[in-house]
Amino acid sequence: MPDDPVKKHKKSMAKASSKKRLKAARKKLKRNLNQNPPRRKGWVDQDPAASDESLHGGLERLMPRDEGDRRRAVEQAAFEIDQNAAEAEAASQVSTEAGLVIATGVGSCRVEIDGRTVNCTLRGRLTAADTEYSNVVAVGDRVLLSEEEDGTGVVEEVLPRRTALSRPESFNSLRQRVVVSNADQILIVSSWRGPKIWLEMIDRYVIAAIRGGLEPLVCVNKIDLVEDDAELQLTVQPYYELDYQVLLTSADQGTGVDELRNALAGKTTVLAGMSGTGKSSLLNTVQPGLNLRTQEISMDRGRTEGRHTTVGVAMYPLDAGGAIIDTPGVRDIVVRGVLQNELSDLFPEIAVLVVGCRFYNCSHGDEPDCEVLKALESGILARSRYDSYRAIRATLPP
Ligand code: GDP
Ligand code: ZN
Repeated sequence: MPDDPVKKHKKSMAKASSKKRLKAARKKLKRNLNQNPPRRKGWVDQDPAASDESLHGGLERLMPRDEGDRRRAVEQAAFEIDQNAAEAEAASQVSTEAGLVIATGVGSCRVEIDGRTVNCTLRGRLTAADTEYSNVVAVGDRVLLSEEEDGTGVVEEVLPRRTALSRPESFNSLRQRVVVSNADQILIVSSWRGPKIWLEMIDRYVIAAIRGGLEPLVCVNKIDLVEDDAELQLTVQPYYELDYQVLLTSADQGTGVDELRNALAGKTTVLAGMSGTGKSSLLNTVQPGLNLRTQEISMDRGRTEGRHTTVGVAMYPLDAGGAIIDTPGVRDIVVRGVLQNELSDLFPEIAVLVVGCRFYNCSHGDEPDCEVLKALESGILARSRYDSYRAIRATLPP
């Protein structure tokens, strides 16, 4: 009986209370976020069009490009719920606590909430269309859910990201795919030898960290293979000077493992570095039993065939709190969406020099009165950092 007034009343009550809960949850989260402003250091992409400060508080200025627009769009959309969505909302309850996305598939994700794992679809109005990103949810996102009676859920809202590690989309390199949200830091593992340390790769990951709002940890493993200690110190000196944490380790001999364990405790850390550098060995030494290669979160289990694709993201909780996130997605991180003249912003020690160059568009290659070249010649600027800068610059559009 579609017009049963009692039924109708109940439905509209449920709808109102559901909306109220969504609103209350949003309010509460906004309060929490404002009390704990994101920890940011260095270069931050700003949104010059940022307005509506009253709604978004000081947060907006710290958000990645388009994040403000995305939030506004999400909030706007939240109040333009169409009839179908309203009915669906009435039939379920929106969580007031945020859940954590631990895996993603096509149009779906797996969320951990209250110690349970819920397979979710995404509410149709959630779209990445207005953002620079191509995906709506990523591992590490905090989301509000409504849960259905069959044990599945629907993601109603993706909360603003504190950090976002992203890489260019394979089919359209102008758009970025968020690989991991809300991680605190990225552990960049290199080996001193076998394979030989590759400084440009380290610098590329440092740039990804700066752009995404994460702290870079520079880890040089296999230091048992170092023959000249002074050479090692000279190599990592630029990172000490940039105030990044540097970890010199040997998984084989247990060197530096306590420092590494401390650096990881209580933090969400994305693992990066070429294969063979000793990532698995290191983490097994940090926490015996943490076997990087045996676990993988897959979206395929227990859901409709063909609907979900497996993504190779794995999250390993640490005994000391925090987690390690291991995903092949970080391998494709390259510097894109940056213009040649903007690259110096991503090299903090070069950024402070370029203002002194004679030409505003100085490439710091062979121009006269170049402060960067002067600093290089006098040894203030590390040769390896300069080389990385020039090599990466050559790959960017003017
Ligand atoms: P992953 O691919 O980065 O996970 O690297 P693995 O942990 O699989 O290590 C690759 C190889 O390097 C293995 O043969 C390890 O035994 C070796 N290895 C790892 N850590 C060290 C180290 O500190 N010193 C030396 N000499 N070899 C290491
Ligand atoms: Zn210059």
